[in-house]
This record gives sequence, C-alpha cells and structure tokens, in this order.
Amino acid sequence: MRVAREFLSAPATVRAMTQPAGRYAPSPSGDLHIGNLRTALAAWLDARASGRRFLVRIEDVDEQRSSREVAARQLEHLAALGIDWDGEPVYQQDRYGLYEQALTQLDTFPCYCTRRDIREAARAPHTPPSFYPGTCIGRTDIPEMGDRAPAIRFHGGGEMTLVDDRHGTVTGPVDHCVLRRGGREPGWAYNLACVVDDIEQGVDRVVRGDDLLASAPTQVAIITALGATPPTYLHVPLVVGEDGERLAKRNGATTLPELTRHWSIREIVAMLGRSLGIEGANTAREMVARYSPQAIPAEPWEFSAPQ
Ligand code: GLU
Ligand code: ZN
Repeated sequence: MRVAREFLSAPATVRAMTQPAGRYAPSPSGDLHIGNLRTALAAWLDARASGRRFLVRIEDVDEQRSSREVAARQLEHLAALGIDWDGEPVYQQDRYGLYEQALTQLDTFPCYCTRRDIREAARAPHTPPSFYPGTCIGRTDIPEMGDRAPAIRFHGGGEMTLVDDRHGTVTGPVDHCVLRRGGREPGWAYNLACVVDDIEQGVDRVVRGDDLLASAPTQVAIITALGATPPTYLHVPLVVGEDGERLAKRNGATTLPELTRHWSIREIVAMLGRSLGIEGANTAREMVARYSPQAIPAEPWEFSAPQ
C-alpha cells in the first residue's frame, strides 16, 4: 500500500494538536431544505454534545452547479437556526492543491468509459448496479478521446468495514469510484475531496444523511489508503414527503425562507429537535444536553410541507 507521507506529515502534526471535530458539508447547488437543515442540526448537536469542534465545509467542487451566493445563503440559514461553527467555513475550490497531492498517493487508473459504456457493461454477480464494472482496469486499447480527459478512478474492490452509531458495524463493497472527473471540463470528485478534507481538518466524526451510507465503505478504503484513521459515523434517516419519497421541490415549502412564512424560527427549530427525538427544547442550545444519537428515530421522518 502506498502511504501519503508528504501529504500526511503536516496534517498529522496539526491533528495531534487540535481537538477532534465534527462537520456539516453542504453542496451549494440550492437552498438547504428541511432534510438538510435537520441533518445539519444533528451534526451540530452531536459535535457540541461530545465537546468536538464543529466545522462547516462548502463542497463546491462541481463548479457548474455551485455558487458562492448560494453558499452564503446556506450559512445564513444555518446561523438563523442557532447553528454556529468554529473558524471560517472552508471552500473546496480553495483546496485543489490538497486533492492533487492526495491523488498522487493513491492507487488509481484512467477510465475512458462513457456513461453508456458503464450502464451497458456486464457486472460481476455482487457488484451493485451503481458501482463501476471495472472495464478499464488494465485496459490497453486506449480509445481516441479528442479534447476529453479520462476520469481517474480509485483502484477499489473488496470490502471495507466501518462503525456507525445507528447501523452498527457495517461491511460493504468498495467502489472503483471517480477521484478526478474527466471530460471536457475535468474536475475533482466528491469522494476524494470529502475524505481529504476530513483528514486534513481533523474530522473524527461524520454525521450525515443515510443516502451516503453506501459510499462510506469506499471512503473508508480511501482514508485507509492515505494512511489515516477513519472517523466514526452516524448516518441519520432521510426526510421524506407524504408520498414517502425523498423531499423535492414538488413537496411544497421546504426551505427556510418558505418555512418561515408558516412558522416562526423557534417553532421550526423545536420541530427539527422533536424529529431527532428531543422533546421540550425550543433552541438549538437547549437541545445539546438532551441530545443522544440513540434517540434519533430509526425511520425516515415524514414531513408534510405546508402548500
Ligand atoms: N456534500 C455532500 C452533500 O451535500 C455531503 C457530504 C458528506 O457529508 O460527506 O450531499
Ligand atoms: Zn472505464
């Protein structure tokens, strides 16, 4: 295994000196909806109740879909709920050098597949449908790419185990995930940027939505390959609309500006707290002493949005 010696030497020193941290890491592609706000509150409560620092990181590697204006609104909405953070929020667009350095420390291969190639490729029996089928591993017939760059993928495979406060010990397959996106406008990919930042920022606890549980074994594999210690996880159930589907625009009012047309901030915060198993608290601050990961209901929270 290749270990990220240069990459890890400085952060390791920093890590040893700093308190452990939790974080919330939104992608600034639109206003946070009530599901995002609830996850943010859970992450904040978890950090504050355990004496960790709480960091906010703006995951804006997808330059086309991200905007600083949206990020600023996200921060404003978090603050309105009483969520505070330590230090300045970091923006992934300011950290490309770190990802570049980490990439050189990982076992990778270039991938020339189109979306269609991936969709149509034969898969080994236990490969999940969303996983890369492995086509380009050891490939020698390099197709003509024109002005497109190949994607760079992690040499995954096998399984990895992680510890999650709600799901227990979870073992799952490791994807050959994209670390650097190819195409005409190449860029950094979520799975690399996210774990490099968690390592560099001293994050030892990740609280986020259940939709990312399937990515966690792959992320743990990348963290381990970089010679770092994986965080412990708490994947919280998603918020669903009355149709039982993940919240979307069609569900009606779900962002903070929309919700405050129907409820006060205090009512919204209290409602989010109750959805996390905390009764009788009206502010985020009051909830810290009453927070317990075990009290978070196991089922998705069904939210009836006002129309
Ligand atoms: N940026 C990701 C999202 O908004 C979250 C990443 C994470 O928490 O690991 O879905
Ligand atoms: Zn490929």
